[in-house]
Amino acid sequence: MKAKEIIKKARPFAEPFRVDNGKKFHLKDFDPADTIGYKNEGKPKAKEALAEGIQALAELQDKLYAQGQWALLLIFQAMDAAGKDGAIKHVMSGVNPQGCQVFSFKAPSAEDLDHDYLWRCMRCLPNRGHIGIFNRSYYEETLVVRVHPEVLAREKIPSGLVTRHIWAERFEDIRNFERYLSRNGVVIRKFFLNVSRKEQKRRFLERIQNSDKNWKFSAADVAERRHWDEYMEAYEEMIRQTATKAAPWYVVPADNKWFTRAVVAAAVIETLASLGLKYPGVSEGKRKELAAAGRALVKK
Ligand code: ATP
Ligand code: MG
Repeated sequence: MKAKEIIKKARPFAEPFRVDNGKKFHLKDFDPADTIGYKNEGKPKAKEALAEGIQALAELQDKLYAQGQWALLLIFQAMDAAGKDGAIKHVMSGVNPQGCQVFSFKAPSAEDLDHDYLWRCMRCLPNRGHIGIFNRSYYEETLVVRVHPEVLAREKIPSGLVTRHIWAERFEDIRNFERYLSRNGVVIRKFFLNVSRKEQKRRFLERIQNSDKNWKFSAADVAERRHWDEYMEAYEEMIRQTATKAAPWYVVPADNKWFTRAVVAAAVIETLASLGLKYPGVSEGKRKELAAAGRALVKK
């Protein structure tokens, strides 16, 4: 498939959920159950598009790797049970593992806390030619850290530097960091998997009732639901402050997993296709060398 064709197919899935100018962003304008009209009868079609997309994605990644100039950084943020892990697993299922790395960022270690908060993420940035996935990221520093002030208190930042401007400063630093990366050829796409509180409850109950899913259950996740509204405010502010042309957010409806995966795949595909990737050309000298080697092999 040609890049133009790929983009044409992917765009209707990704475009409605892309936010590249945060100024007028309101979370309430985005429905977690949206499937852009693909009701259940449209589900097989969306799944087919996903399968096709994954094939296209594998081809694009091969070129990304061969060309070795651009890097793609995909950032996933969401409430628990929104389906981050499943989305990452499905969307990346067709890609060559050699050119792709996933990093999960949990509560910071003692070593992490001995550094600035971007430090641990900077160490995991993708090489040129690679796709890097952050399952959670430095954005937690404007989410969980904001909702739980005691987490900020543990960060060992000199007290004079922690003022009421801290969140505005973090957003500014993150915007600047992402602009810096994009100017260096690191393409950034950010995904907020937007699950509803009701669907999260259903998924937690499923984790309790289905023995194969028991291992995923965490009582702490349920306790965190008490802070739902504070998290939603923090997510809204985060997107308002950090959605830019260079590093847009996708506010992906996450109440239907099949749709979430289709949107994420479409966004990744559209992004890669827009880079105009090509296999590296061969110089005249190299062409002669190839021809000579071919002739020698045929003779033997
Ligand atoms: P899963 O539950 O599916 O395994 P997860 O991403 O929820 O995946 P957890 O082991 O539950 O993984 O741990 C992630 C926890 O770490 C989250 O509660 C998150 O808020 C917390 N966390 C991540 N980054 C930071 C940070 N910079 N500061 C404090 N807490 C953080
Ligand atoms: Mg968890």
